[in-house]
Amino acid sequence: MTPPAERRLPVRTCVLCRARRPAGALVRVRAGGSMGPGPGRGAWLCTGRRCVEDPRARSALSRALRSEVSDDDLDSVRSGAAFGP
Ligand SMILES: [Zn+2]
Repeated sequence: MTPPAERRLPVRTCVLCRARRPAGALVRVRAGGSMGPGPGRGAWLCTGRRCVEDPRARSALSRALRSEVSDDDLDSVRSGAAFGP
């Protein structure tokens, strides 16, 4: 059962698995490792554990952001991401 509004949700592509999902199912990572809306280049990563916890997530984000993402940055993304079921 999908409410009509769902179809108008913006869709984003995960930089790791390339899945296209509603923006609410991904987290936006900005250059420097901060999350959420804001200025600057952003990359999207699924909040599902498979992508956020994937060891390749860091290099995928670094490549997408054209800026090094450190393990600390990724840790803050992991701890800040609202993991869905
Ligand atoms: Zn993904």
